[in-house]
Amino acid sequence: MLRISQRHLKILETCPRQFEYTFCDRLTLPMSPTQQTKTQLGSDFHLLMHQRELGLPIEPILERSPQLNTWMQAMLQVAPELFAPNPQAWRQSEHVRTLAVDNYLFTAIYDLVILQPDRADIIDWKTYPLPKYKKDLDLEWQTRLYLYLLAETSDYLPKQIAFTYWFIQSTPQPKSIAISYTLKQHRQTHSDLVALLAKLTTWLDASRSRQEPFPQVAASTGLCERCSFAVRCDRQHRDDQSPTGIDLAELLPIPI
Ligand code: SF4
Repeated sequence: MLRISQRHLKILETCPRQFEYTFCDRLTLPMSPTQQTKTQLGSDFHLLMHQRELGLPIEPILERSPQLNTWMQAMLQVAPELFAPNPQAWRQSEHVRTLAVDNYLFTAIYDLVILQPDRADIIDWKTYPLPKYKKDLDLEWQTRLYLYLLAETSDYLPKQIAFTYWFIQSTPQPKSIAISYTLKQHRQTHSDLVALLAKLTTWLDASRSRQEPFPQVAASTGLCERCSFAVRCDRQHRDDQSPTGIDLAELLPIPI
C-alpha cells in the first residue's frame, strides 16, 4: 500500500511531476541554513508539547531554549483552557489515524486531539507566520485530510469536529484560527480524494508500464520559477539561465 499523507496530496495537486521526483524517485531537496534552523525550532516545539502531554519533565528543554520557553509561556497565558484538566475529555498528542482506500493508506499524525462525548477537537501547532487569509487554511490538504480522517474513523459527525491552528509566533501573542466542519465539506473532500487518487493510479500505471513521466504543471503558473527541480524539468528562468528560488520550502512548507 502506498502511504498518503497531507504532504503527498499537497504536492500531487501542486505538480504531479514534483510528486514523482519527491516520492517515487526519492530525490532529496536542499534546504537553506535559515530554513534548517526554522524547521529545527518547529520540531523542538512539537517535541516539547508532546513531552508535556506525556507528563515528562519539560523544564530542561525550556531552560536550554529561551525561544521555546517564550512560546510555551505565551500559550499557557493565552489559552489556559487548552491545558486545563478535563475529566470529560480524552486527549493525545502525536495521535495517528489511518484509513485504507484501495491500494492507498491515508495517514495523519495529529499534533493533539481532544475527544469529548459530543465533540472532537484537532489542535495543530504552527511555528510559521499566520497566513493572510483563513480561506487558504480551509483549502489546505492538512485541514481537509485531518478532518476527513477523523470523521471516517470515529463515530463523530462532521459537525461535531473542529480544527484549530495555533500560530505560536504571532505577536503580541499566539493567535488561533478555528475551522468548523460540515457534512457537505466532508462529501466534497471525499470526491476530491477519489478523483486525485484515480489520477495518481493512472500516472503510476503509465510510469510503471511505459516509463512515462508524471505530467508537469503548466509553465504559465509560475511555480517552476520557485521550484528546486526547475533545471531537471528544463523550466529554469530564461533571464539568467539559473535555477531560481532554490528554497522549495517556501512553496511547500515542511509539514510540522
Ligand atoms: S519545475 Fe515545474 S514542472 Fe518541474 S517539478 Fe517543479 S513545478 Fe513541477
